[in-house]
Amino acid sequence: MPELKKFELVLQARARERAGSLAERNQIRIERSADAFDGRLHAADRESSAQALAEDFRLLRQVEAARDRIRDGTFGICLRCEEGIPPKRLQAIPWAAFCKSCQEMAEEAKAYRPKLARAA
Ligand SMILES: [Zn+2]
Repeated sequence: MPELKKFELVLQARARERAGSLAERNQIRIERSADAFDGRLHAADRESSAQALAEDFRLLRQVEAARDRIRDGTFGICLRCEEGIPPKRLQAIPWAAFCKSCQEMAEEAKAYRPKLARAA
């Protein structure tokens, strides 16, 4: 698939961008924690930057996993039902690991889990 080369380049750029963003945020965190008096004032700030950091990590992991799939030849195949992921979806989300319906199922399962945990 000649398309793979293109996806690899997109994913590579994405990984680099995320890694850069992570390094930048780390730097900000170090600067902030050096100023202990400011710590409390920036609690809300830290909260949102922690969330952004987690989001960066999550995306970076997904991008790296997609690059692994290009290497081992399983790129573009849904990890759950093993059907091909439509090219349109891959163009929009090159690191997509699931087809649309499996993704929706996974998200639904995630949404239900906290409820189940509380009930137990
Ligand atoms: Zn699927």
